Amino acid sequence: MSQGSAIEWTEATWNPVTGCTKVSPGCKHCYAERMARRLKAMGQSRYRDGFAVTLQPDVVELPTRWKKPRVIFVNSMSDLFHDSVPDQFILDCFSVMNRTPRHTYQVLTKRPERLSEMSSRIDWTENIWIGTSIESSDYTWRAKQLVTVPASIRFLSVEPLLGAIPRLPLTNIDWVIVGGESGPGAREMAPAWVRQIRDRCVARGVPFFFKQWGGVHKSKTGRVLDGRKWDEMPEFHRGLQDGQEEGESLERTLRKREGRRRSAHAPVGAVGQGEALLLEPLH
Ligand code: SF4
Repeated sequence: MSQGSAIEWTEATWNPVTGCTKVSPGCKHCYAERMARRLKAMGQSRYRDGFAVTLQPDVVELPTRWKKPRVIFVNSMSDLFHDSVPDQFILDCFSVMNRTPRHTYQVLTKRPERLSEMSSRIDWTENIWIGTSIESSDYTWRAKQLVTVPASIRFLSVEPLLGAIPRLPLTNIDWVIVGGESGPGAREMAPAWVRQIRDRCVARGVPFFFKQWGGVHKSKTGRVLDGRKWDEMPEFHRGLQDGQEEGESLERTLRKREGRRRSAHAPVGAVGQGEALLLEPLH
């Protein structure tokens, strides 16, 4: 994982599953795949099978041991709704989320059809945010699957944005994140595509978060769009998060934490234990 990347909107990851297979063009330069290969080369036992789908049952209960509230990204190294993950394993992961209401969980999938199928068997407690990735107008159907799920927050990760999406579905969507691809071989993202989505979100009152322009050297391109950063996040009315002051937005709390983390040069070697600071793009 690289250091000094863009400010993120989550603060820890939990990987009860590792490994995945590619489902659409957005997967081409999958960050999780690159990372899994690196970790395998480093001898991390959890990644001895590289990017093959692997259950990590000893990690399932990990968030129950985190006493302080955290915003947790679920499965940055996989897709929880991958066909190879048994139903019961998925339900066990959601059970942990249900039993730890102090944490906020962000679950993102490129397989919302399975999510939608399983949805009625999941207890959608308020602390679970559910999202799907849409990289081009060929995949807007994923949003239609997503909105069948009765989660408190439903979000779209439009990353990497690979083409114009003039009719991005926003009905019953609570948050949109847009970002360009980064790293080796990064594909270009036209500013007009980003503005079109931003304008659509603004017109409909949907919080818009612009993560990055991306590119081979994303630190050079930054994340300013038309003279400002777009860091909007959905409102959610739960207890205060760790470090959050009364009246302070979650977005501001996470920014403060990000600042502390950077100044401490936080190591990222904890991935193998199922937890890692999230510094890179999500699938
Ligand atoms: S981008 Fe996501 S869905 Fe695609 S291969 Fe990587 S982890 Fe799987």
